[in-house]
Amino acid sequence: MRMEGREASDQVEDRRGMRIPGGRGTGFGCIGLIVVLAISYFTGADPRQLLGLLGLVEQMAPATVEQQVPAGQPPQDDPQARFVAQVLKGTEEAWGQVFARGGNPYEKPVLVLFDGRVESACGLASAAVGPFYCPADRKLYLDTAFFRELSQRFGAPGDFAQAYVIAHEVGHHVQNLLGLSDQVTALQQRARSQEEANDLSIRLELQADCFAGVYGHFDQQYLEEGDVEEGLRAAAAIGDDMIQKQTQGYTAPESWTHGSADMRVRWLRQGLRSGDPASCDTFKAPQL
Ligand SMILES: [Zn+2]
Repeated sequence: MRMEGREASDQVEDRRGMRIPGGRGTGFGCIGLIVVLAISYFTGADPRQLLGLLGLVEQMAPATVEQQVPAGQPPQDDPQARFVAQVLKGTEEAWGQVFARGGNPYEKPVLVLFDGRVESACGLASAAVGPFYCPADRKLYLDTAFFRELSQRFGAPGDFAQAYVIAHEVGHHVQNLLGLSDQVTALQQRARSQEEANDLSIRLELQADCFAGVYGHFDQQYLEEGDVEEGLRAAAAIGDDMIQKQTQGYTAPESWTHGSADMRVRWLRQGLRSGDPASCDTFKAPQL
């Protein structure tokens, strides 16, 4: 990406270097979270309550700062943080325009940079869960170490691969603003099987991919040759089939929650091409 001259968002909260006391282990991890969410789909319980029952959420003690690094804006001379803030700005402009067309203001999310572990309104999370969006506090949480993992473990390097990851989480924020996340959660609670709940999750995730593409469409003046391919490679690399092949050696489509590599690439491409969120209705699509 060619980001010189690209403004940076002031909605980045830098919590790197802050330590959370009294922890045990490294948080609940990706699988634990998925299990808890799956239980809550069926029981209708508040996932936070379940996490508490399972002893996975520590007391929400106020974070004390060991080093004298206040939470706030990232330092000016940090290129990684600056890039994140520039992409976030791009998403603010893109969604600002989309919402304005509908006569609504776009409520910008805050992006929290952290390392190691972080407290959110959705519970205590470790970097192992990967980047995530918490609807309860409307914040995106990102440990930039994930970008290294994306490049090295998933074989998807490049700045637009990173931009795609950020824009996907912003996509979840947009779904939250539109009330879609709540609707899907309600439907999942009524789902008759785990597969039906998973199918809803896949549709929500693929829509977030398509929304990431909508951002890319708006910001195309900052894209360089090869950028789109970087994004598509990243979308494919974190497809459920690719991750399952890597971690367990085979794929089990009935347990997918985010969609296959092909699906993710298709919906990201759809948003990139159309620049129109109306074209991202994965819930009505007969084929994903
Ligand atoms: Zn997602």
